[in-house]
Amino acid sequence: MIYDTIIIGGGPTGTAASVYAARKQLKALLITDSFGGQSVVSNDIDNWIGDIRISGFDLAQKFEAHIKAQPGLETLIDKVSAINRSQETPYPLYEITTEGGKTFQTKTLILGMGAHRRKLNIPGEQEFSAKGVAYCATCDAPFFGDKKVAVVGGGNAGLESALDLLAYASEVYLFNRTDTLKGDPGTAEKIQAHPKFKGILYNTIVTEITGETMMTGITYTNTQTQETQSMTLDGLFIEIGSLPNSDIVKHLVDTNEIGEIILDHKYGTTSAPGIFAAGDITDEAYKQNNISAGDAVKAALSAYSYVHKLEEN
Ligand SMILES: Cc1cc2nc3c(=O)[nH]c(=O)nc-3n(C[C@H](O)[C@H](O)[C@H](O)COP(=O)(O)OP(=O)(O)OC[C@H]3O[C@@H](n4cnc5c(N)ncnc54)[C@H](O)[C@@H]3O)c2cc1C
Repeated sequence: MIYDTIIIGGGPTGTAASVYAARKQLKALLITDSFGGQSVVSNDIDNWIGDIRISGFDLAQKFEAHIKAQPGLETLIDKVSAINRSQETPYPLYEITTEGGKTFQTKTLILGMGAHRRKLNIPGEQEFSAKGVAYCATCDAPFFGDKKVAVVGGGNAGLESALDLLAYASEVYLFNRTDTLKGDPGTAEKIQAHPKFKGILYNTIVTEITGETMMTGITYTNTQTQETQSMTLDGLFIEIGSLPNSDIVKHLVDTNEIGEIILDHKYGTTSAPGIFAAGDITDEAYKQNNISAGDAVKAALSAYSYVHKLEEN
């Protein structure tokens, strides 16, 4: 069987694309390894339109229920491991292979694989991951009650993590690579006014994480003076942005220098015929749930129009 469209990803992008593909009666399959997307770890999402406040967990459940309510839409819980062009004429077809050993053919693809957290790639990071090193304060801050912790990153994610941690930890530090914070000044003021906040180390990079079974400290360097120092720490939260999950499609579509899929934003098209994308995997400027869902609608409608044209020819 050849699908009209295969949608990959169960975040806001994949969910919105699936609902629209199903309502357009495309022969559609959604493949995802989980539901909800990156904000599943959030306790409070306050900007998802239609819900004044919702947890990431509840939002994920709503996504799954909405997907399962679509007549005709097939769903597979699996991870896509490879995508290749399997036919050129009369029109391109794509073959999808999953880690579970399944293969499928499709006329169009809607890519909604999103993004993952960027790492520091320094000695000790992997070794002490989940042993003091963490990437989500919303999820892990409660494990650091009365502990001395630091956050790396002065963007909004870093500042919000520091704020989350101040509710639990005994001391919180912030490491920032440059001499200015990129995040919201209001949040920066709030954390700096907190008695448990011990300071921002500007122009500073963390170079090593040390410990035994658990992390016990870090080494850091001031990039202006080249002075290297150590600090004892129970936890280090790394909040330095995200990278797109585009490795499996880089041979098929054009990507930018950080691997984001380059889109024609009017229609959600990529450089490859029949491949559409939306959300955090793309070069969309603002990475947000509502934007991902909206752009996914555009991609699904474009996929519908593309399939319709193939049938006319
Ligand atoms: C901690 C945190 C809190 C956030 N809070 C907010 C907020 O309050 N409001 C807001 O608007 N935005 C928030 N965001 C941003 C928002 O979560 C993202 O913009 C949004 O999730 C992007 O949606 P997406 O569907 O494109 O990608 P993702 O959410 O990354 O979803 C991708 C999906 O694809 C699946 N997947 C990936 N690769 C494969 C594969 N090979 N095979 C099968 N499945 C695959 C993943 O498992 C996942 O289900 C937050 C982000 C984070 C990290």
